[in-house]
Amino acid sequence: LNRRLEGHGTTIFAEMSALAVETGAINLGQGFPDTDGPEEIREAAVRALRDGRGNQYPPGPGVPELRNAVAAHQRRFYGLDFDPGTEVLVTAGATEAIAAAMLALLEPGDEVIAFEPFYDSYAACVAMAGARRVPLTLRAPSFRPDLDELRARITPRTRLLLLNTPHNPTGMVLTAEERDAIAALAVEHDLLVVTDEVYEHLVFGGEHVPLIALPGMRERTVSISSAGKTFSFTGWKVGWVTASAALVAAVRTAKQYLTYVSAGPFQYAVAEALALPDAYFTGIREDLRARRDLLADGLADSGFEVYRPQGTYFVTTDVTPLGERDGFAFCRALPGRCGVVAVPNAVFYDTPGTGRTQVRFTFCKREEVLREAVTRLKRLA
Ligand code: PMP
Ligand code: GLN
Repeated sequence: LNRRLEGHGTTIFAEMSALAVETGAINLGQGFPDTDGPEEIREAAVRALRDGRGNQYPPGPGVPELRNAVAAHQRRFYGLDFDPGTEVLVTAGATEAIAAAMLALLEPGDEVIAFEPFYDSYAACVAMAGARRVPLTLRAPSFRPDLDELRARITPRTRLLLLNTPHNPTGMVLTAEERDAIAALAVEHDLLVVTDEVYEHLVFGGEHVPLIALPGMRERTVSISSAGKTFSFTGWKVGWVTASAALVAAVRTAKQYLTYVSAGPFQYAVAEALALPDAYFTGIREDLRARRDLLADGLADSGFEVYRPQGTYFVTTDVTPLGERDGFAFCRALPGRCGVVAVPNAVFYDTPGTGRTQVRFTFCKREEVLREAVTRLKRLA
C-alpha cells in the first residue's frame, strides 16, 4: 500500500457490519435500509434487463433517459436548468463522483477544506489525489459550521471546499445564511466547491438548497447526488454530477478511467424513480422523521446525550453520560453488552482527540427493528 493510502485500511462500515454479522446483533452502524425501494422501480430494472436495455456498455456520460431525468429533477425541486447533454454525468454512486472530482480537479499539494467529521471516503480521495485535507470542525451540540473559522482556514493553497449537507454523521443542514456566507467566500477566494447532497430529500428541519443555485456558484460547483438514499437502493450504485459543461467534462475525464461507464439496466430504473410523484419524496421523509424520533427518544431514555438530526438517517450521540470515555471501545463492546452495532464518530475526524465520545446510530431500519434495538439499549441505562 502506498503512503497516500496509509491509515485508510478498512472502512469502519465494513468492520462494524462484519461485527454485526458475526455477533448477530442489530446493525445500526452502516447506513443501508432493511427494506428495498419501490416495487415498481425494481420492476423497471428487471424490465430493462429483459428488454436488453443497458446490458452492453452504455454511453460514458450515462444513458440519455437518466441524464434527462436528473435534469428534470433539478428543475422540479430547485428550479435549476442543466443541459442533459453536457451538464449531467452519471457515476457509480456518489462515491465515484467524489473520487473522480478529486482526481480531476486537484493538483498535488492543494488544500481541500472539508467539514469534520466527514464521510470517510473524502479523506481517502483527497489523499489519492495527493492533496491535503484541512478540517473545519463542526462542534456539538449544534454542529453548525463556524464561518469565521472557515475564513481563517483559507490560504493561498486552498483549491476546493468539499461540503456535505445534509451532513453525515451529524445530521446538520446548512441554513440560508450559512449557504450565502460560504458561497461568498468561495467567490471571493475563487475556490472550487464540491457538494455531496446524497441526503437531499431526507430533511426534517430546515430546507435543502444546492449551493450551485447561489450567485457566482454555477461555474465553480460540482453538485453530487445519488439514488441510494432517496430511493433505498444503496446496492445499485447509481449516482450523478450536475455542473457546468467544463466541470462535467473534467470529472468525466477521470471517471472514464475509473469505471469507464456505469452499469446499464439500473440507470433506466433510476430514471423512472426520479420521476416519481411528489408524494413519494414527502412519504420517505415523513416516514424517516417518525423513525428518527423513535430512535432519538429511545437513545435519550437509555442515557445517551442525543443530537437530534435535521437531516440524513443518522443520529449522533455522546456516550459520556453513560460513563464511557472512548466511543471506539464502546462500539466494539456494544454487541456483546446488548446486541446492537453502532459506529464511532472518532474515525470521521482528522483532529486528534476530537469526537472521541461520539457514536452514530442509523434509523433507516424497520420500526420493529428500531423498537427492539431501543429495548436492548435501555439495558445500558
Ligand atoms: N456521501 C455520503 C455523505 C454518504 O453518507 C454516502 C454513503 N452512502 C455516500 C456519499 C456514498 O453514496 P453512494 O452509495 O451513492 O456511493
Ligand atoms: N454512507 C453509509 C454510511 O455512512 C455507508 C457507506 C459505506 O458503507 N461506505 O453508513
